Amino acid sequence: MTYPVKKIVIAGGGTAGWMAAALLGKTLGKRYEIVLVESDEIPTVGVGEATIPPLQTFHKMLDVPEREFMSAVNATFKLGISFENWKELGHRYIHSFGYAGKDCWACQFVHFWLAAKRRGINFPYSDYCAELLAAEESKFAVLSKAPMNYAYHLDAGLYAKYLRKISEAAGVIRVEGKINTVSLNHDSGFIDSLVLESEQRVSGDFFIDCTGFRGLLIDGALNVGFEDWSHWLPCDSALAVQTQMHEAPVPYTRSIAHKAGWQWRIPLQTRVGNGLVYSSKFWNDGEAEATLMDNLSGDAINAAKIIRFRTGTRRKHWHKNCLALGLSSGFLEPLESTSIHLIQKSLVRLVQLLSVDGINLSSEKEFNQQTKVDVERIRDFIILHYKVTDRSDSEFWRYCQNMEIPPALEQKINLFRANGTVFKVDNELFGEESWVQVMMGQGIIPSSYHPAADLLSDQEMTDFMAAIRSSMHRKVQGLPSHGDFLNHYCRYGNS
Ligand SMILES: Cc1cc2nc3c(=O)[nH]c(=O)nc-3n(C[C@H](O)[C@H](O)[C@H](O)COP(=O)(O)OP(=O)(O)OC[C@H]3O[C@@H](n4cnc5c(N)ncnc54)[C@H](O)[C@@H]3O)c2cc1C
Repeated sequence: MTYPVKKIVIAGGGTAGWMAAALLGKTLGKRYEIVLVESDEIPTVGVGEATIPPLQTFHKMLDVPEREFMSAVNATFKLGISFENWKELGHRYIHSFGYAGKDCWACQFVHFWLAAKRRGINFPYSDYCAELLAAEESKFAVLSKAPMNYAYHLDAGLYAKYLRKISEAAGVIRVEGKINTVSLNHDSGFIDSLVLESEQRVSGDFFIDCTGFRGLLIDGALNVGFEDWSHWLPCDSALAVQTQMHEAPVPYTRSIAHKAGWQWRIPLQTRVGNGLVYSSKFWNDGEAEATLMDNLSGDAINAAKIIRFRTGTRRKHWHKNCLALGLSSGFLEPLESTSIHLIQKSLVRLVQLLSVDGINLSSEKEFNQQTKVDVERIRDFIILHYKVTDRSDSEFWRYCQNMEIPPALEQKINLFRANGTVFKVDNELFGEESWVQVMMGQGIIPSSYHPAADLLSDQEMTDFMAAIRSSMHRKVQGLPSHGDFLNHYCRYGNS
């Protein structure tokens, strides 16, 4: 069955709603009537400020000039995430967006690093990766030759405003009002309109649910069900607070593990976003809040806001004529900043599945299959951080160490532990290099490596490794500090 689509209605105007409006408006605004409904009375979740590199592609699709965008949304650059106290108390590693060394077709660079280590060439892995080094030295520049792989930290509220401007310029109509009822067609069960508190009726052919955790359309009206993953991802609460800036912003997110969760620090140009993600089963709110407030690095600008969530996913992200986007589609938890990326990925997939005659049911099926794989692979990558740890200093960490994990993740860990090999499967978001950096960072050192790495003589190995180290160090030495670069490239408010 194919149903015609002339009008698309987006319910909700947080990051998800405005990303949808901007992309659909910019690419297909001439073809579809696009309406976004949001209520000023219902605040957005107000967090979601760390991103990953594919956001650059999203901005290219929107023709967003980087400098203008960054100064409009108070953005800084992000080269990765610093994981502190995750393997054990006092330990730190960075999961960067960079690629270390040089691979060969038979094996990745990590095999050469392991082989070199066995021969006494004992330099940290970070010496072989420009993004890791630059993050550690707090340096950054946008390079035209051999650019670094980077993402952004941004102000979520300003980002929604920025995207709204793009959307409205592309013809998207914003309707202000609180959605009271989602009206379904009696025969098909499809959504036919949203009825607002003012009694205004917003009808449409296709609906995108961006109403956040409420999931007013996908859950409230269509009731697709939820797959709960809290046994693997036990955090269910967050406290968020902003602080004043008191030092130059670092080009990475900080993730600092505590007794039953972890704290984030996201530096923008003029303030810092902070928060604590924790499990209410293992930590009470009062204790969690005290820990967060004791570990802030600047004066708080606002009171800590509590957010409850359930980790897991909707059983279907697309059902009938409704697509769930953002928090309405489920939530894994923000450890690897993947939520905004999933919004982008789903939007691009939706656009690719459209046809001139409308939407076919096979599109819905394809979308759900592909999205399920995306989400499950990301889920496994996040579980890895909790599972592989030497920490047993609290009930929470003992639970994580001992929990059963999905078989695909178990296999990935076992293979890497045995011989240092990782495969990127199912076109998953995180590539081999990310898995290597996090597995080694969390404490897995493979017991073996590929024979190809032993084909080099001692001298060849010494020269090969030294050449990579010196080229990475040279590259990073020539960079300005991240703070200086931001000041001249995209100072907040200059746009
Ligand atoms: C603690 C935490 C930290 C996070 N950190 C990150 C991160 O670092 N990186 C990342 O990628 N993601 C992160 N996320 C996820 C990210 O915040 C979200 O994916 C993103 O903000 C999108 O949210 P949303 O637009 O789906 O929902 P919301 O921001 O909640 O927006 C919902 C919208 O729906 C509207 N609405 C709701 N009900 C009605 C109604 N009845 N009538 C009319 N309008 C209505 C609201 O007004 C609002 O406009 C984090 C999430 C949490 C909880």
